[in-house]
Amino acid sequence: AAVVYWMRMEDLRASDNRALALASAQARHDGVPLLALFVLSPQDYVAHDRGARRVDFTLRNLQSVRASLAAKHIPLYTTTHAPRTTLPARVLALLKQWGAARLYANIEYEVDELRRDVRLRELAEADGGGVACTFVHDRCIVPPGQVLTKDGRGYSVYSPFLRAWIPHLTPKGEDSPLACAPDPVPNSAAVRGHPVYGALFESTVPEYVEGFAMDDPEERERMRICWPAGEDAAGQVLDRFLHTMARSSQLGAVDPLKEGARVPTKNPNRDSRVGKYKDERDRLDADTTSRLSPYLAAGVISARACVRATTELTANKKIDVSRDTGVGRWNQEIAWRDFYNHVLALFPRVSMGRPFQEKMADVRWESEGGHLQAWKDGRTGVPVVDAGMRQARAMGWMHNRVRMIAAMYLTKDLMIDWRLGEKHFMETLVDGDLASNNGGWQWSASTGVDPAPYFRIFNPYTQSHKVDPTGEYIRNFVPELAKVRGEEIHQPPPGLADKLGYPRPLVDHNEARQRAIRRYKNPGAE
Ligand code: FAD
Repeated sequence: AAVVYWMRMEDLRASDNRALALASAQARHDGVPLLALFVLSPQDYVAHDRGARRVDFTLRNLQSVRASLAAKHIPLYTTTHAPRTTLPARVLALLKQWGAARLYANIEYEVDELRRDVRLRELAEADGGGVACTFVHDRCIVPPGQVLTKDGRGYSVYSPFLRAWIPHLTPKGEDSPLACAPDPVPNSAAVRGHPVYGALFESTVPEYVEGFAMDDPEERERMRICWPAGEDAAGQVLDRFLHTMARSSQLGAVDPLKEGARVPTKNPNRDSRVGKYKDERDRLDADTTSRLSPYLAAGVISARACVRATTELTANKKIDVSRDTGVGRWNQEIAWRDFYNHVLALFPRVSMGRPFQEKMADVRWESEGGHLQAWKDGRTGVPVVDAGMRQARAMGWMHNRVRMIAAMYLTKDLMIDWRLGEKHFMETLVDGDLASNNGGWQWSASTGVDPAPYFRIFNPYTQSHKVDPTGEYIRNFVPELAKVRGEEIHQPPPGLADKLGYPRPLVDHNEARQRAIRRYKNPGAE
């Protein structure tokens, strides 16, 4: 007999992991070994537009988790299963083969994944109920379903959500949503000699998944430098944000763990990245944000651990969620992550390619193929948009503000369907995450919860002046413009652009803006 923890793509860690902790406690109670399982499911990756970088990051982190579990004599069995429809039956077959009576997993809120888990439970029951499946909340700080309006619905606007979310953080001790889940207890070393379980230690994590290999060795190397895998690395990236200073020389593909990338500060509350976050988080020309999103999206670090760490910087170790401090503002961003996951769980249509605002389903989009490709390639002729899109290609990551600018440009200036942009981001970014990506895209396209009003359209040139005042961000990612000084960097005159081999703008912003307002005002009419 055994207890099994089924690890998913969003909880790639051994510490502070609720399902793993429960599975471990159960195994200990029953006096049986704990086993861990990971199923690679290429068809699910296709369905979710997962990119090679995200899959590669998964595999690298799995290798790290496998080693930490193995040190506790807990095997991590990794297998690939192709037809997603038969995945629950395959998991049940493994559980039976291992004589496991209990399975624990953290809930994934995407519709297909919820259906898969329901199916597994149905199959287990139809099979005589020999395997009990327990699914628990772990991804958010406050689980979806707990933050509801007076009439029991999910919030569709962030500010009241935040006000209702904050009181959930107050309980202390084990009841606190920030409480750290206990580490798994080691199995007896004797498990390695067991005829069935011992063999599971031989299971290795593949180098790549068929159809998701990163063929370019330079790209592989770059991703490994920018996004080192493992829980220790995630902890160091968090530490870098909390205790070291931002530097404008670190805009691109820096190794976050190298000493040079970490300039310590004596006064973290004032000078560190988090200390300055309230005022400087939107600056594209300084490396001011945490860059933790790939680790949070893959669950290499829990959101709980992030907020807990910030309490070390506050008076009386209080949880700061105010608008007035760096720490507070950062924790509010973590709340955005909760918010979008709650939206995903409570309004499943958003994960089915549908707009949250149903009336926006009829907005008429342009299908000029060349424009979409130019946007993806960072050749729209709008420097800040192009810098953002090239940052995405180079690093698999973009600063939040430039995601907003680039997304708004695609949906309002080029009038291209937000779903095409959403797909491209998922395929390109290491932190690709359905809830946050869909939330961000529907915000920008004015189709979502708490969206940008459709008539308030970013002027990309004004934005560029505001959030890249030195122009360093553009110079860093758009080499054609590297030598341009002064204001012209934001909107190079046609003669200069031609001379430098930089494209002229695809559309005139003011005309495009008028077109977008007309189409959004009366969806379906034009
Ligand atoms: P920090 O500023 O240090 O914030 C800390 C953490 O809070 C982030 O790591 C993230 O987990 C969370 N967070 C911050 N801002 C947001 C937000 N607006 N929405 C949800 N969570 C947030 N984030 C993803 O993790 N994956 C995505 O695929 C993704 N796609 C996006 C697409 C668009 C069009 C937009 C506008 C935003 C998207 N975001 C996405 C949200 C946000 O841009 C990133 O989380 C952020 O830029 C990551 O950088 P950071 O870790 O340095 O953030």
